[in-house]
Amino acid sequence: MNPPPPTVIHLKAVMSDFVFPPAPQASGAVAGSEARFPIRRVFCVGRNYEAHAREMGNDPDREPPFFFMKPADAVVAASGTVPYPPLTDDLHHEVEMVVAIGTGGANLSAHQALEHVWGYAVGVDLTRRDLQAVAKKMGRPWDWAKGFDASAPCGPIVPVGVTGHPRAGSVSLTVNGDPRQQGDLEELIWPVADVIAYISQSVALAPGDLIFTGTPAGVGALQPGDRVGATVSGVGSISFTMGQRPA
Ligand code: MN
Repeated sequence: MNPPPPTVIHLKAVMSDFVFPPAPQASGAVAGSEARFPIRRVFCVGRNYEAHAREMGNDPDREPPFFFMKPADAVVAASGTVPYPPLTDDLHHEVEMVVAIGTGGANLSAHQALEHVWGYAVGVDLTRRDLQAVAKKMGRPWDWAKGFDASAPCGPIVPVGVTGHPRAGSVSLTVNGDPRQQGDLEELIWPVADVIAYISQSVALAPGDLIFTGTPAGVGALQPGDRVGATVSGVGSISFTMGQRPA
């Protein structure tokens, strides 16, 4: 007797199988290339710099890393104008180094984790801090504070062959030219290899996953029309303008 066919038939669906056309594949620019990096999921690390954990009122001592997610299509180019989200009077900037995963796997060891990195980018984890404060207070999820449309402006992904694996270097953000955030990758509580290993214990990582690695101290509010500049030394620089508040 033949075994039943594997339930992977949906992977072979053609356009006419869908009840309406599926959304375009989320993707990001690749530095120095016309090619696009297909984005699968966006993982974000909470409190990965001691000074930022303290400024948010937390004791960073030896807490294991924790994670939240944004939709893949929350990633937008960190250039031009980024739309200002609704429902907030306290939109915060969080500059972060972003890791782009090229090959997946579960239960990766920190020792082998970096072999799975395709490249690195500069990103900003935009956060509706007022909604997050309410969520924290009420013990609710952070999703509405973190996962709104265009909440993850991201610069071009630079292949690891160009960047290597940055372990130290400035992570900084300016607003209208004024310094706001300043940190260094060597201050990461959980370095990239550990972050990858931790995530892969919980979810099998897959090609196209992005990881926002956490933000240094100095987070603060953005106003409509603000010009945001951000740099991760050895990876790149981005700049964009916040759009107007939605009517
Ligand atoms: Mn963040």
